[in-house]
Amino acid sequence: MTIKIKQSFLAIVLLATSILSCTIESDTTTPTTTSTTVPDVYKKIYGATSITSDGTFITIKTNGTPDHESPYFATTNALYKAYTGTTFGGSEFKKNPNVIANQSFTFKLPINPVAATNHAATSLGVIGVALNGVAFYNQYAGPNNQVLTTEIASFDKYYGHPTATSQYHYHVEPLYLTTVKSTKSGLMGFLLDGFPVYGPQEESGTPVVSSDLDVYHGHTHATIDFPKATYHYHFTADAPYLNGNGYYGTAGTVTQ
Ligand SMILES: [Zn+2]
Ligand SMILES: [Zn+2]
Repeated sequence: MTIKIKQSFLAIVLLATSILSCTIESDTTTPTTTSTTVPDVYKKIYGATSITSDGTFITIKTNGTPDHESPYFATTNALYKAYTGTTFGGSEFKKNPNVIANQSFTFKLPINPVAATNHAATSLGVIGVALNGVAFYNQYAGPNNQVLTTEIASFDKYYGHPTATSQYHYHVEPLYLTTVKSTKSGLMGFLLDGFPVYGPQEESGTPVVSSDLDVYHGHTHATIDFPKATYHYHFTADAPYLNGNGYYGTAGTVTQ
């Protein structure tokens, strides 16, 4: 008798559980074109102060400051650390006169990026967002799209530096992300067109060089974050480092 009661109780529990799981499943698999859910991949942008979606654009807010030590912080900042030694490409580090300050970035990235018909050139200034909320810049320096050669010596230990307007940014591999927070083959962030940016290696460990990529500095294949394959940019040790002849897709916006 006791056993019978236990069995029917178990049956009821099992039935209830299966009804419940069916309900949950049908809720999450219902296709919707206006979902405001933020896909998990954007949650990797751990430096964001907020991440929201309207179903068309992902809106990411950041203060643009690095979460790693830099000689470019004010000396009163806990992350200030003097630096001597070499930097990107073996250059001897030579500090520029600028200091890091909080920014107020709002990035709007297309949630379903597609190839653009006309590939607009990236501009000087902010062209994307790194996982730690810092800005990505292209391969040129102001004011007239000069090559970066002379600027490279002022990249700090983690390969970033600030502008005269105190905006810290990476033109090349963000070394703190590739060596501390992620790996050389990990997701590094997104350009404004919504396409992801990866480190200077494929998941197999093979280094990526510019000649492996198209003129926009990317190519298409599956990654851990995008198992169905996606176009993506790569950082490379050789110029243009992150972006070539413009955005692959249509750029969203950044306000600052
Ligand atoms: Zn710069
Ligand atoms: Zn790749």
